[in-house]
Amino acid sequence: MTFDYDLFVIGGGSGGVRAARVAAATGAKVALAEEYRMGGTCVIRGCVPKKLMVYASSYPDIFDDARQYGWDVQHGDFNWGNFRTRLHAELDRLEEVYRNLLNGSDVEIFDGRAIMDDPHTVRINDKTVTAKHVLIATGGHPVRPDMPNADLGIVSNDIFLMEKMPKSVLIIGGGYIACEFACILHGLGVEVTQYYRGAQILRGFDDEARGLLADSMIQRGINLHVGTNIVEMAPASEDHTGAQPTNSDAAMGAPAQDIASNPKSDTAKTAKEPIWVKATNGTEKVFDHVLFATGRSPNTDGIGLEEAGVKLGRRGEVAVDDYSQTSVPSIYAIGDVTNRVQLTPVAIREGMAFVETVFKGNPTKPDHDLIPSAVFTQPELGTVGLTEEEAREQEPIEVYCTSFRPMQQAFAGKSERVLMKLVVAKESRKILGCHIVADHAGEMIQMVGIAVKMGATKEDFDRTVAVHPTMAEEIVTMKEPMRSA
Ligand code: NDP
Repeated sequence: MTFDYDLFVIGGGSGGVRAARVAAATGAKVALAEEYRMGGTCVIRGCVPKKLMVYASSYPDIFDDARQYGWDVQHGDFNWGNFRTRLHAELDRLEEVYRNLLNGSDVEIFDGRAIMDDPHTVRINDKTVTAKHVLIATGGHPVRPDMPNADLGIVSNDIFLMEKMPKSVLIIGGGYIACEFACILHGLGVEVTQYYRGAQILRGFDDEARGLLADSMIQRGINLHVGTNIVEMAPASEDHTGAQPTNSDAAMGAPAQDIASNPKSDTAKTAKEPIWVKATNGTEKVFDHVLFATGRSPNTDGIGLEEAGVKLGRRGEVAVDDYSQTSVPSIYAIGDVTNRVQLTPVAIREGMAFVETVFKGNPTKPDHDLIPSAVFTQPELGTVGLTEEEAREQEPIEVYCTSFRPMQQAFAGKSERVLMKLVVAKESRKILGCHIVADHAGEMIQMVGIAVKMGATKEDFDRTVAVHPTMAEEIVTMKEPMRSA
């Protein structure tokens, strides 16, 4: 049977675009469909605009420190309108770069929603094409909790489109997005309250690192309340005296809900007026915005997957094997839609492994082991490998750990501490995990990640000469274990 294309990629995010280009470079005939903006979550409404906002939000600290270093500088005001204009110009530029990369790689672009009719047939608007292989790379979208009036709240997509900076924001959640935006918005001068239902933010990260980061966030002025969740919300202008009594336990465990039929739409219904909120601790407050950072869900609805015979998992994700192949042999899936590890560089690796497997005759599993990552809070949290808690379950360990005031901030009169931590296997001496809470921890953990991935031991770290004076030198100068387990 002949096909119109060797590969049809559905989704123009980081994973899909990379897979399309690399496949086309093998001589394959490739097409890609994107219904919204080329670049996907990372470029258009995730990593990139978020990181630019992280930079914008870090200036008040820089101004403060500069005065301590002898500079006569004043804060001035942050102009969201000016920043937003520049931000969107940059996103437009990057979108164009992605488009040009595809054009330059001879990948045919379809601007529209692709729907699968069968394992080899894809419909885009009124055009139907066939492909030998189809790659699903449709990503995910933010979800709101299933509660009345949840659509009054905003999600991360909406932040970049806000008309004006709110005075106050309540953030629900304790994951990456909640913590990053708590710090960003606080840095931009917004009064930030954060409710997290669990005992400590950033579940799954190293306990000591989470604790220090939470302390720093509180010390900086974020009103972080753990063990707390939202129970009710309504427009502040409404009368709440007759509000129904609520079962807070039910609200604490309520599953999250998809926000809109079009997952790429920026919001369903965003409140234009302040929102009254009741919390599980009984407090009632009014906020300009409520930001739900309560997780993300795979984009698998309405693209004909089940009709084509593709099996989905419990969370609606495309179920794949180690080679990213779905239950239908001609259909593969990579990135957030598979709900494996929701990180851009991982989606890209999965895309490249797919091309190796299918177009280069070299079956390759994407490597999900020892993935370094960073939470871009203030300070940042960088992590690779096992947490102390995970490692203890696995084998006997030693923990090397130091917490100190870094020179730059100490000179500026700040009391904030950083954390450098190594989790070491007692027997093999291998570094099982590294956790850093500090400014630029994201940059540091990338480097540590190489050594850990190579299987470095504590003695390899010890043999490495320190770069002095830096914060990171502590990672090679910790002599005695803080504890063994
Ligand atoms: P996460 O899954 O990291 O966090 C979701 C948070 O919402 C958790 O704290 C969760 O609590 C809480 N939550 C879930 N449902 C409810 C509910 N019904 N009521 C109250 N709270 C609820 O998701 P994010 O949206 O923050 O991020 C999604 C993914 O995107 C991340 O896992 C990460 O892989 C990726 N990402 C990576 C970034 C980076 O690399 N810097 C930045 C941003 C995102 P609980 O812990 O109790 O489940």
